[in-house]
This record gives sequence, C-alpha cells and structure tokens, in this order.
Amino acid sequence: MRKLLLTLLTLTVMISNARSDVAAQTRRQRAERVDLLVLGGTVVTMDEGRRILHDAGIAIKDGRIVAIDTAVAIRSKYSALQTLTAHGKLIVPGLINGHTHIPMTLFRGLADDLDLQEWLTKYIFPAEAKNVTEEFVRVGARLGLAEMIRGGTTTYCDMYYFEDAIADETAKAGVRGVLGETVIDFPVADNKTNAEAMAYVERFVRRWKGHELIVAAIAPHSPYTVSEEHLKAARAFSDRTGAPIVTHISETKREVDDSVKAKGASPVAYLDRIGFLNDRVIAAHMVWPQDGETSILKQRGVGIVHNPQSNMKLASGVSPVPRMMQEGLLIGLGTDGAASNNDLNMWEEMDTAAKLHKVFSGDPRVLSALQAFELATIRGAQALHLEKEIGSLEVSKRADLLIIERDSLNQIPLYNVYSDLVYATKSNDVQTVIINGRVVMRNRRLLTLNEGEIKRSARVFREKIAQSLSLPTAP
Ligand SMILES: [Zn+2]
Repeated sequence: MRKLLLTLLTLTVMISNARSDVAAQTRRQRAERVDLLVLGGTVVTMDEGRRILHDAGIAIKDGRIVAIDTAVAIRSKYSALQTLTAHGKLIVPGLINGHTHIPMTLFRGLADDLDLQEWLTKYIFPAEAKNVTEEFVRVGARLGLAEMIRGGTTTYCDMYYFEDAIADETAKAGVRGVLGETVIDFPVADNKTNAEAMAYVERFVRRWKGHELIVAAIAPHSPYTVSEEHLKAARAFSDRTGAPIVTHISETKREVDDSVKAKGASPVAYLDRIGFLNDRVIAAHMVWPQDGETSILKQRGVGIVHNPQSNMKLASGVSPVPRMMQEGLLIGLGTDGAASNNDLNMWEEMDTAAKLHKVFSGDPRVLSALQAFELATIRGAQALHLEKEIGSLEVSKRADLLIIERDSLNQIPLYNVYSDLVYATKSNDVQTVIINGRVVMRNRRLLTLNEGEIKRSARVFREKIAQSLSLPTAP
C-alpha cells in the first residue's frame, strides 16, 4: 500500500513538472524575440511628460526601443539572448555632448589660462600645424571616445580635420556622432585649399550616408575664419546633400566688435544677411547674441550649443542661456575640445551650467537641475536636430541609454532624481552604456576599445608634441 502511494505521488509530481515545463515553453514561444532586455531599476524617460518609471523594463530590437513597461510586463511579453538587470539603479538617456574637437584630447593641458585669441593663435594653431596627421587624429579620437563612453556620452557633435578617420574610429567604438569636416580659409593638415576641402567633404558625406551611427557634416569654422563666398558654398552644399552645418558663432565680444567693424553687422545678423542660417545649422557658443538676434535664431531654427566650462576658462563670457531657453530656442550642452575644458565630462558640464547661471543672475531658480539634465539629453538632441531619434527613452527611438549606480557615497541618501543626477552623480557612477542597442561598456569595462593601448599611444604623442614645440619632457 505504502509503495503504491509513493508511486502515485511520484507520478503526480512528474505530471505537474511536465505541465509547468510545457507552460514555460509556451510562454517562451509566445514571447516576442528581441535583442536585449534591461529589467528592473528606475527609468528616467525625459519624454514629453518627463515620466519616471519605477521597477521598469525596456525591450530593444534592431537598435531601437520596442517597449517600455513594468519589468513584469516586459519579462512576460519578450525574450532575448541578452538581459541586463538594473535593480536599484537609474536608467537614463545617453548624454549628448553637443560640441567637441575630439582629437584635441592630445593637447589637454598644453596651454591654459589664456584668452581665446592668444590661446588659438600662439599655441593651438601652431601646435596643430606641426602635429596633426591622420594618425594623430585617430589616436586622439580613441582617447576621447573612451573618455566619453566611461562618462556616459552616447552622442557627440564634432569639428576637426581628417573627420573621415574620426568617423571610422567612432563607428568602430560604437558611438553616435554628428561629425563635421572643417572648412577654414588657411591651409590645414588635411586640405590646403577650399577646393580640396569641399572635395573632401563631398566624398566624406557620400561615404557615410545612411549609416546608423554617423551623420557626416560640413563644418565652416566660424564667420571670422571663413569668407562670405565659402560660407555660402558650405550652405549650398548642405542644401544639396542635407548634411548639417557645424560652426562657431559669437564666442567672444571681440568677435562681435570685429564683425561690426569689418562687415557692418554682428555675426548672427551678418550670417542671416548672407542666407547662411537655417534648421540644419548647429552653432557652438552664442555667448554674445545682440538685440533682436535671438528671434532670428529662433525663426531660422538654428541649434545652439552652450559650453559653460570652455567659456569660463577662456573668459569669453556668459551666454544668456536661461533667456534663450525661455524664448524657445533649441539649446544643448557641450564641453568644447579638451584643450579648453580640459575634459569631455558632461556631468561636470551640467553641474557647471546650473550653477554658473545662478551666480551670474543672482537667481537660484534661473536654471534648475531638471533643465540642466534636459540640456544634456532631450534639448541636446533638439540642438543637433536629432530629437526624433535620440534624447529620451521612448518607443521607436534609438536605444541609447545608461545604467547609473546609486550606491556611491556621493549619492546617498536620495531625495530627488534630477538633483542626484546633476549635482551629485559623477562619471564614475556610470556602470553600463548601451548605444544603438549595443552594450559598449558593461560594469565599467569598455567592450569596444582597448584602454591600455589607447593610453600608451596617447603618451607617445605627448612626447612628439612636446618636442615639436620645444617643451620640456614629461613633468
Ligand atoms: Zn569649438
């Protein structure tokens, strides 16, 4: 009798196991296959309603977000080869660095504590003339890309020479970029004449057309280094190809005064007069817009990138960012090159932006933590004219996102998400970085770049640059 009961019991257990196996299998079969799931954690969406979702999940397929819901709902609807868990962590949109000259990481600390004119003409232009090669650009770009991924930057907007090589390094690293090849009216490392530069840009834009990470752009350096004829040609090229235009406008008071003297108009009025401004232009700085110029910038749909640390370091002035935001202009945030910052750290840049405008206006409410975080995410996307693709965590947008630790001493305790992100979180707190659905850093380990090799080759360049300028050997 006991033996019979035992057999019956064993049979019942076997049947119920088989049933639950079948149920799990059916669930798996019914579940939609995606590439990557991020489960648990608090999602800071930066969508229209600025929703914050607790214990949430994100499903990612073909580089895009296909669903955001509760972790339970995502787990039951989707299955993936790779799943990242983010319990107790923050999931935020990848940061957007709206203005860089990425290879200038190799000039970090070369010349500091000078104003823009002296810094550019006595140090940076000569150092570039003696050192910039395609190899220099590749090594500097890899150094900058590694620094940016570690700090949670998933998209950057660049202007430099040999930009095609920068695009190549950027695509290999799996980072998103709006990358502008420089057009400037003096011979530079990659192109000696405007005709050469325009031919380069033509090939460059054609090569990267339709790439999922790279947007190739034309970058006339500024209205004071590029003639009216060449600015108009850049605009015509952009009209024909759809390529964005990356430039610097109204960075210093001197630029405005010189422009008024030489052209009878301040930079924005002059550029508008020659028909240069439109909604493909991305203009760094805009520290000194004159009366009435912000309405021109708004009408034309120009994207503006605020670089508070670079502007402070070169004593260029304080851009009227809170007023321009209020007027509805498209404004993002950038670091500028590492030679005038001296890093590519967007956490510092957000913190600086919020605090600079408070002290400058005497009003602590003038730029909030939420607004500073917007500048580095959704507003940054608007400034690069990419808001349909990036800048927030929403279904159908590109899957560019960060998992942020919340366990560092500098983050404890936590009362407000945006305050925590802008005033307390540091780049070391970025744990995992996903760009276009691909994990490029996992648990602080870079997966697309070789950090040791990057440091070695950057140090080799340091010696070459020092020798070319007769600087002492490494301190
Ligand atoms: Zn710049």
